[in-house]
Amino acid sequence: MRSHVDLHVHTTASDGRFSPTDVVRKALELGLTTLSITDHDTTEGVGEALEAAQGTGLEVVPGVEISTDIPQSEVHILGYFVACEDSDLCSKLALFRDSRLHRARRMVQKLARMSLPLDWKRVEEIASGAALGRPHVAQAMLEAGHVSSISEAFDLYIGRTGPAYVERRKMSPAEVVQTILAGNGLPVLAHPLGVTHIVPELAQRGLVGLEAYYTGYAPDETRFLLDLAAEHDLLVTGGSDFHGEGVQPGNKLGGVTVPQAVVEELRARHKRHQATRAVALQT
Ligand code: AMP
Ligand code: FE
Ligand code: FE
Ligand code: ZN
Repeated sequence: MRSHVDLHVHTTASDGRFSPTDVVRKALELGLTTLSITDHDTTEGVGEALEAAQGTGLEVVPGVEISTDIPQSEVHILGYFVACEDSDLCSKLALFRDSRLHRARRMVQKLARMSLPLDWKRVEEIASGAALGRPHVAQAMLEAGHVSSISEAFDLYIGRTGPAYVERRKMSPAEVVQTILAGNGLPVLAHPLGVTHIVPELAQRGLVGLEAYYTGYAPDETRFLLDLAAEHDLLVTGGSDFHGEGVQPGNKLGGVTVPQAVVEELRARHKRHQATRAVALQT
């Protein structure tokens, strides 16, 4: 049977173009059976998606995608079934969102010094209270006529090595794994190609899975990740990293899917994790 599970999807709660309700509607149109909302540094979109999916037969798995950093590159870690109300996780996410705001302001200042002025109010308007990401700044640049596409903004100015790039506050990958576990979630390394050297350490710290199926990954790349997952006893997940038009336009909703069995494995692992955590909290 064809699988209909996409475990990596963004909404307007971060840098996605569609609201959680619209994403659910699109998922239903495509015949998806399970969807995880994994916004950057926020779980704000999950409640709306759960509500929109009620009574439709579509399962929404609560999720988050937390950005972390190592010297050579960014590392993104997905947290499935995170407990949004967990205060430590939530307060850390709130700190990250705050730092995103400051960082975007500084990028706008840098761009102004490069004779690429932006109206800060417009950047805020585009983000509309979402976890502010570079795609929002890129959209403002596009509207101001400074670039001809979102990806051009990244390529020329705000990509990691670009002249208007500004760092922001992030935890280390190991800290994020621990924070997600403490928040009753399951940490999974997102789009792992390029950062697989950290997998052994993260596996020791309690990483639960690897996103081996991902938009653009070739069969031999996925095979390499499947072997790595097996070597470290990690679950295998997958998803599209859908954002909507403009931001990573090649990532189509449901463009990468995994079997329903993956969700069942995650659920079983989550139950076990909850039970172990309850025992640990009692002692
Ligand atoms: P931030 O979370 O603010 O660091 O921005 C990173 C986000 O920007 C990623 O999650 C993608 O959604 C988006 N992004 C990264 N690189 C590009 C690119 N070259 N073109 C379009 N969007 C990108
Ligand atoms: Fe994104
Ligand atoms: Fe990511
Ligand atoms: Zn993502």
